[in-house]
This record gives sequence, C-alpha cells and structure tokens, in this order.
Amino acid sequence: MTSAVRTAPLVDIRRIYAEPAALELPRGRDVVDRWPGAEIVPVASHWQIPEVHGDEANVARWVRIKTEALVLGVKKSLTTRPNGRSADFIAPSTANGCAMACAYCYVPRRKGYSNPVTVFANIEQITAHVARHIHKQGAKTEPNQCDPEAWVYDIGENSDCSADALLSENVRELCELFRMSPTAKASFATKYVNRELLEWDPMGRTRIRFSVMPDETAKVTDIRTTPVAERIAAVNDFVDAGFEVHLNFSPVILTPTWQADWGALLERIDDTLHERAKAQLAAEVILLTHNERLHEVNLGWHPKAEQLLWRPELQEQKLSENGAVNVRYRRGLKADAVARFRALVAEKLPSCRIRYAF
Ligand code: SF4
Repeated sequence: MTSAVRTAPLVDIRRIYAEPAALELPRGRDVVDRWPGAEIVPVASHWQIPEVHGDEANVARWVRIKTEALVLGVKKSLTTRPNGRSADFIAPSTANGCAMACAYCYVPRRKGYSNPVTVFANIEQITAHVARHIHKQGAKTEPNQCDPEAWVYDIGENSDCSADALLSENVRELCELFRMSPTAKASFATKYVNRELLEWDPMGRTRIRFSVMPDETAKVTDIRTTPVAERIAAVNDFVDAGFEVHLNFSPVILTPTWQADWGALLERIDDTLHERAKAQLAAEVILLTHNERLHEVNLGWHPKAEQLLWRPELQEQKLSENGAVNVRYRRGLKADAVARFRALVAEKLPSCRIRYAF
C-alpha cells in the first residue's frame, strides 16, 4: 500500500454518487460518460453520504472507496480568498477529497476519513468567477514572494489537481483560463505524476509544485502517491512542456535522521534537474503540523506513521479557530530546524530559491 509498491490504478470508478443538479450540467454528463460502467447513486448533498464518509476505522474500505467511488456535486459558494503565503489568492475548488491517503493530510478532516474525490460539475460558474476576479485585480505592480509579476491563484487547496485530472476536464479548463491570462498564474501542489498533463501546453501560466520528502519517510507516510523518485524525474519533462515547476519541501518531519536524509534528497535533485529547470526553480518549506483527532484515527490503522508524526516531546499544541487541537514543533526547535533546512538547500541545491519557510 505504500508509494513504493503501488501497481493498481489510482482510480477505477464503479459508483458515482450524484446530486441531481450536477447530473444536469454538461460536466456532470461528461463524468458519467467517462465511466460508463459505473452505477449512479442519487444523493441529496455531496457533504452527506454516510456510506462513503463514515467508518473511520476501516482502512481497507477507505482505500476501496477512494479507488471506486466518485461524488458529483455543485459548489454553492464561490469565493476567492486572499492568501499571501503559497499564493496570492485561493481560488474556489473544482474538487475536494483525494484518491491518495497521506497520513498527515488535513484534507479529510471536514469530510470524514475515506474522503473520495467530489468533482464539482458547475465548472463554468467557477471559471467565470475566477475570470472576473483576475480581470478586477488588474496587473501586479509590486513583486512579492509568490511571484514577481503575476497574481498567483492556488487552485488545489482541497484536492490533488493531477489526480483530479484523471476524473474530469475541470483542472484543464481552469488552466486554460490562466493560459489566456497574462496577469495571473494558476498553482497547485501535487504528489501524483499524471503525464497526460504534458499535452496541455500551459505556456508558463500554471505552476505545478511537486511535493517531495526523503524516501525513507515517504514510504511510511505518503500512501498511494507516486514514488518520490518519479516525482523528481518528472520535473524536467514538465518544464519542457511549458509548466513552471517548483518544489514543495513539505511536510518536513523531524525524524532522527532528517538532516542526512534531506541532504541526500537535495543532492539527488541537483543531479537530476537540467539547467532550464534549475533556472526557474523555487521551493516552499513547510514543517509538519499535525492534529490530535487525526493522530487518534491514524493510531487505529497506521501506528508506524504516528511514530514519525506524533512526537509530544518535540511538539506544542495550538488550538485552531474551530476548536481542533493542532500540534507543531516547539518554537525554538522549529526556528532552528528552518535555519538548518535553509543552510542545507544553499549547500546541496544552490539553484533553488526558497520562497518561504515556516
Ligand atoms: S496527495 Fe495531498 S490531498 Fe491527497 S492525501 Fe496526500 S496530502 Fe492529502
């Protein structure tokens, strides 16, 4: 089940849980046509499907649900929120949920733990909303760490867009909007290499951020993802195909051997990337945050991951706005690790600019 041994397809849709309104839209019909053998199960709301979202203790069942179930819904509230860290703005999602199952992932916290992908069928409304926002925003006149000249919109806050592209044309259509938008750029992080994207010709207006971490750790935590070596090997091809390609060094998990493991990984990246890829390279560095509730769920199915993720002697609690107990590395330890990480990148992968680290 780890990234190293995945051979089965990531998705093989057998059941489509669909809101009636989504089935009436062209995108809803496209998705149904894409999976002609799938049974259609009508649902009143994509948020409330107990048989796919409940039962957080049954991991074998989650994986089957992630592989075989797809939800078709209509996104009701369309808002673009300011961000300022990874991107200038967070665009409304075209999907939520994920067919992969990283042990630290925050995406399932709202929806229950099997969390299969919901595809939003009202892509025309979403695209029109984003187009209006881009138009209203006008040109970027002051460079910032998100980008020196374009407003950057994160389009994958609640899902993995490369995997979503296996399910519908939503991500491609949104990227096509950015392709025609000289003042803006789409951006998404991914742990899945979908080579179909190499046909898209995004003309530099889509930034794909491959998330990487040392193999030793990824084999434990990055369940169902593309192996890290394959993600790194894909960078040159995506640059050649017209993507801007950045890296997410995230999450950085402070294992006993993290410095040696990351040093080796950064050297491997330096050896693999060609000069054009290095010339446009930048990265985000994000140290792990975890969550008490997720920790408890993980203990039931993947205690080995929790040995890496849950380290109370190194971590402190932080109550989030919705009352959830999150944990992060203690302040002094974290500042020291960030400084060490920056020094490692400067030494091993000097072409890589760090956009931000926290
Ligand atoms: S690939 Fe991303 S969205 Fe999917 S489970 Fe992993 S961290 Fe979550």
